[in-house]
Amino acid sequence: MTEVVVIGCGIVGAAIAYELSPLPDLTLTVIDQRPPAHGATGAALGILMGVISQKAKGRNWRLREASLRRYATLIPELEAATGLTIPHNRQGVLSLLTEAADLPRWESLQAIRQRQGWPLEIWSPEQVQSACPHLAVDTLAAGIYSPCDRQIAPKALTHALVAGAQQHGVRFHFGNPVVGFECQGDRAVAVKTSVARHPADWVVVAAGLGSAGLSQQLQQPLALGPVLGQGLRVRLPEPLGDRTFQPVVNGNDIHLVPLGAGDYGVAATVEFPAEGSHHPLPKAEALRTLWEGAIAYCPALAKAEILETWYGLRPRPQGQAAPVIQPLAGYANVTLATGHYRNGVFLAPATAQQVKAMVTVELQ
Ligand SMILES: Cc1cc2nc3c(=O)[nH]c(=O)nc-3n(C[C@H](O)[C@H](O)[C@H](O)COP(=O)(O)OP(=O)(O)OC[C@H]3O[C@@H](n4cnc5c(N)ncnc54)[C@H](O)[C@@H]3O)c2cc1C
Repeated sequence: MTEVVVIGCGIVGAAIAYELSPLPDLTLTVIDQRPPAHGATGAALGILMGVISQKAKGRNWRLREASLRRYATLIPELEAATGLTIPHNRQGVLSLLTEAADLPRWESLQAIRQRQGWPLEIWSPEQVQSACPHLAVDTLAAGIYSPCDRQIAPKALTHALVAGAQQHGVRFHFGNPVVGFECQGDRAVAVKTSVARHPADWVVVAAGLGSAGLSQQLQQPLALGPVLGQGLRVRLPEPLGDRTFQPVVNGNDIHLVPLGAGDYGVAATVEFPAEGSHHPLPKAEALRTLWEGAIAYCPALAKAEILETWYGLRPRPQGQAAPVIQPLAGYANVTLATGHYRNGVFLAPATAQQVKAMVTVELQ
C-alpha cells in the first residue's frame, strides 16, 4: 500500500483526496489544522469563469476547460454518492461591457470559443435589458453572456468531496497543524502534526497560504502572498428582475451572485498588502466602493438589507503564474498543489486530475 498524505482541506485538498480515493493500492490521509473549507475556500462565492475568461490557449485555458468539463459530471456524481445537496447555478455568467472599444476583443474571443465548441453570446443593451430588467443599461455598450459558465457553493462542495472521499476510505484529521516533516535523502517519509506522526510515501501540499511555511520547513520556500477579498451578503424582499433567469452578473469585476430567494452575494475586492506586510486588513473604503459599484449597475440593490460582510485571503504565487501544481524542487515525492489565487474553486477539479496523473505515473 502506498501512503499518500494531503496537507490542507480547502477545496483543492478535498478535490485531490476525492479524485485519488478510488485508486487501488493507495491509502490516503488528509490533515488540516481547521475544519474543512475554513481558509480561502470559505470566503469564495464559487464563480467558475471559463468560457468568458480572456484566456483562450495555453496552460491556463487547458486547466479551465478541464475543470468546466469535470464540474459537469462531478456535481451530479457527488450528490448521488453522498446524498448531499451542492447548491449551484447553471444559468451562466453575464458580463457588462461599458467600453465599446473593447467589443472587437470580445468578438474575436467569441470566434475562438466557437471553434473550441463553447457558446459565447454578445448581447445588445436592449437584449440585456429584456433578459435582466434589474440592470442599468444606459452606459452599456454590450453584454457578454456565457451560458456554460456557472457558480457553485464552495463550502457545500468541499463537504461533499470530503464525504465522497470518506466513502472510499480516506481518513481525515482536523484540528492540528502540520508542524514538520521527517526526511530521508530526497524523500519526505513522515508528516508530523502537533499530536501525531503520519508515515508517507507521497506528500501533497495543498495548504493554500500555509503552503509557504510548509515548503520553508522542507528548505524549498515557495513565495506566496495574501491578496485580501471582501464581500457582502444582502437580502431583498424578492428576486431581482426575472426570477426564472438569475445568472451571475459581472460589472467592472464586481460580481452579483444569486444565492436563492432574494439573497445575493456581492464580491469581491482585490486588496494587496502594504509593502512587506503579510497580514493585510480589510479596508472599509474598498468595501464601500464595491457596494457602490454594484448599486451603479443594479440600482435596486440600494434597498437591500446587508446581512453580513466577510473577507478572506487568496493565496497568490509571487514570481510565477497561478496555480502552482508541480513537484517540490529537491524532493522525489512531494507535490505542490497550491497558489490558486482568484480561481481555486474553479480550478480545483483540474488540479486534482493533474495531481492524480502525477501520482499514477509515479506508482506505475
Ligand atoms: C473573497 C473571495 C472570493 C473568491 N471568489 C472565488 C470565486 O468566485 N471562484 C474561485 O474559483 N475562487 C475564488 N476565490 C479564490 C479561492 O477561494 C481560492 O483560490 C481557493 O479557496 C484556494 O483553495 P485552497 O484549498 O488552495 O486553500 P484554502 O481554502 O485556504 O485551504 C487551505 C487549507 O490548508 C490548511 N492549512 C494551512 N496550513 C496548514 C498546516 N500547517 N497544517 C495543516 N493545515 C494547514 C488551512 O487550514 C486551510 O483549510 C475567492 C477568494 C476570496 C478571498
